[in-house]
Amino acid sequence: MVNFDNTAIAFQMKNDAALDRAYFLFKLISNEPLVKIGTAATNFALNAQLPVEGLIRATVFDHFCGGVSEEDCLQIIKELGSYGVQSILDYSVEGKVEENQFDLAVEKNLEILSFIKSREKIPFAVFKPTALGSSDLFFKVSEGIELNESEKNAYSRIVERYHTLCSKAKELNLKLLVDAEESWLQKAADDLCLEMMKVYNTEQPIVYNTYQMYRWDKMKDLEELFDLANQFSFFPGIKLVRGAYMEKERKRANEKGYTSPICKNKQETDINFDKGAKFILNQIEKASIFIGSHNEQSTLLVIKYMEEYNIPSDHRHIWFGQLYGMSDHISFNLAKHGYNVSKYIPYGPVKDVMPYLIRRAEENTSVAGQTNRELELIKRERSRRKLL
Ligand SMILES: Cc1cc2nc3c(=O)[nH]c(=O)nc-3n(C[C@H](O)[C@H](O)[C@H](O)COP(=O)(O)OP(=O)(O)OC[C@H]3O[C@@H](n4cnc5c(N)ncnc54)[C@H](O)[C@@H]3O)c2cc1C
Repeated sequence: MVNFDNTAIAFQMKNDAALDRAYFLFKLISNEPLVKIGTAATNFALNAQLPVEGLIRATVFDHFCGGVSEEDCLQIIKELGSYGVQSILDYSVEGKVEENQFDLAVEKNLEILSFIKSREKIPFAVFKPTALGSSDLFFKVSEGIELNESEKNAYSRIVERYHTLCSKAKELNLKLLVDAEESWLQKAADDLCLEMMKVYNTEQPIVYNTYQMYRWDKMKDLEELFDLANQFSFFPGIKLVRGAYMEKERKRANEKGYTSPICKNKQETDINFDKGAKFILNQIEKASIFIGSHNEQSTLLVIKYMEEYNIPSDHRHIWFGQLYGMSDHISFNLAKHGYNVSKYIPYGPVKDVMPYLIRRAEENTSVAGQTNRELELIKRERSRRKLL
């Protein structure tokens, strides 16, 4: 029986000092005013080129990131792997806007694909749609706004970039996750992923699109995806998440006066998420699911469905994923019981991963219960060790 309360397994990779550091860090980011001031001060210091990188590295960076380069992450990947937890290298450099930066992103991702091919315990690669093209274009195409000639050319370059990465993944027999973005960019990203699945997922799931189940329309999209998969004979790859941009989504819908695409409340999101998981698990021989979640109940429910449907815990089409630095009690306990688990390991130059780190700090401040849960688990493990 998987038991997320087993802190000895959850924190087996952390020595006492690392556990103390994690406690200190979560204590800091549980303090909302401090996170606000810290974020502003860090942005200011980095822009003013003050020497704060060391401090960032010693605190949030080292907790939530694997390092500055792929090589930097290797030690962590090896350690995680020794406990049965696999890794996904997530090059977390965001917000680039120039064409040459999109080409560089493709090169970087090709490099990562080759890097992971020659190593063990890194089953997936991942990219964000807007790393390959401008948000403006994703927006226009999503909204059906007509493109001018130069925009059409730029968009066909995005399509080409998708093909370059997906065909490489297929050639190397690696799986490729495509992250989801804000709803006003997502339709174009969904259409692109569908095209990729039709081409590259004919023999097995290679390309995985992300379905954000905090959107009330996503269950219908999932059903459509499976209809299309039957029609065009491909294996749908699905990364199932709740969704990261709720506040932004609601604010924009409110300002522009359209119905928010987000479920009315958390309970509806939870129902939608669990329904999506069940729907996919029911047809797991012809699809693959990557469950990106820190939610204990949903994870346990997936395990329950797997047992009900007689699906082995290490079924090659079922993956669980958490972010590095969070919810180790889920990842390590799942791995201990033979489930396929991977941690997203963000990495990149300190200044460039700051938006990612700020999101993590804010999320841990705002997502009710998560920081307290981490603190509680660490406290329990510290007491357990003292009694030994
Ligand atoms: C490996 C991994 C990959 C991810 N990739 C992506 C990605 O590509 N794109 C993306 O957008 N997100 C991504 N996420 C983030 C994810 O979408 C969630 O924001 C995050 O994991 C928190 O949800 P949860 O399932 O872990 O747990 P929970 O803490 O149970 O759920 C919190 C989530 O529930 C939803 N929610 C909270 N309150 C309400 C409310 N009042 N009404 C409606 N819904 C509500 C929100 O989505 C919120 O983030 C990823 C997460 C992981 C672990």
